[in-house]
Amino acid sequence: MKILVINTGSSSVKYQLFDMVTEEVLATGMAERIGEDSGKLTHQVMVKNGTHQKRVIEDLNIDHREGMEKITELLTDPEHGVITDKSEISAVGHRVVHGGETFQAPIIIDEKVILEIRKNTPLAPLHNPANLTGIRVAMSIFPGAPQVAVFDTAFHQTLPRHAYVYALPYDLYKNHQVRRYGFHGTSHAYVAEKSAEYLKRPLSELNLITLHLGNGASMAAIKDGQCVDTSMGLTPLEGLVMGTRTGDIDPAIPFFLANHLNMSLDEIDGLLNKESGLKGICGANDMRVVLERAEKEDDLAQLALEVYTYRIKKYIGAYVAVLGRLDALIFTGGIGENSPVIRERCCRDLSCLNIEIDADKNNSSGDPLRQISPSGSNVRVLVVPTNEELKIARETKKVVTGT
Ligand code: ADP
Repeated sequence: MKILVINTGSSSVKYQLFDMVTEEVLATGMAERIGEDSGKLTHQVMVKNGTHQKRVIEDLNIDHREGMEKITELLTDPEHGVITDKSEISAVGHRVVHGGETFQAPIIIDEKVILEIRKNTPLAPLHNPANLTGIRVAMSIFPGAPQVAVFDTAFHQTLPRHAYVYALPYDLYKNHQVRRYGFHGTSHAYVAEKSAEYLKRPLSELNLITLHLGNGASMAAIKDGQCVDTSMGLTPLEGLVMGTRTGDIDPAIPFFLANHLNMSLDEIDGLLNKESGLKGICGANDMRVVLERAEKEDDLAQLALEVYTYRIKKYIGAYVAVLGRLDALIFTGGIGENSPVIRERCCRDLSCLNIEIDADKNNSSGDPLRQISPSGSNVRVLVVPTNEELKIARETKKVVTGT
């Protein structure tokens, strides 16, 4: 069984084709800068010995449909293709950012589902319309394949209401669905499952804190295998410090910016989402650059690291209080998986919570999935590489075949 996973953005389509018997990736790639003259399509075929065969097509001016058609041509190319005909694709799994309160699990897409995803557009005005474009295009290019929506928000739908209701007038929740939703759910769910496998314990018995630290960043508190709190809110702006997003700030700051600096709503939106976070403090949003500069004694880069890891420590403390007992703390995402410095800073002086890191294990580049806490420690600290595409492929298979 072959499943195509698609992640459609407003100007990009990322894709991976899986063989679900082996769970191997057969091909992966991305069409980017859609709608511009400088559009580019990068397509990689996985060759048996673990090497990649890469094709890059540049200076394309394509829309989403043409992008998907090109991708299909490359997948079925007689010389380098990985399938002979597009009908070999049994199902298509779509990442959909906002499922609101309607979707608590992946679902086969029909016109009713499309309507409901569209209804959630006010909650994700940039993402849901792009996801719907990808769905429409894939439905027409692969008419025989069931299309499945896998929602970023679904894993967090188990939050108890005291964790998702904001202290705003209650009718804003009742009538306008203003509440905490949380994002990165597919990643939090995937690493929680991998951790349970690694620890050889049922997920339903585990209390976990998962830290997804990528360009965007979020944490989840997982009790007996179910998500009970998460740091992102109505939108992905709340919570941790991110590459360019503020995370938590005093909600009165936007009024100050409007009243004293005459900023418009759009300007404030841009400032909080695109000009803040690590970039706002030290000018760089890429954590590798921030770390390099901090090592060279750049004061603002050091401050950015301090603010970034201090926020995470506060959330760890809060989530231990929420959970009562913690079995494992899990790092994932580009930063969580690759930066021993950040992991060490997040866990520094947390032995009062039984959280400790073994410096050698933290610095070693052994197995990608590994324990970095000392042997015998009460709280296991793990590094678990995330794989959202594989999780979407698995969920798609489960919905389509029932297994
Ligand atoms: P996205 O959220 O877009 O999927 P990723 O999960 O790939 O992003 O994470 C991107 C972040 O990971 C960037 O800030 C990048 O600097 C950081 N990163 C990648 N490799 C390393 C590394 N070796 N050390 C520190 N940070 C890293």
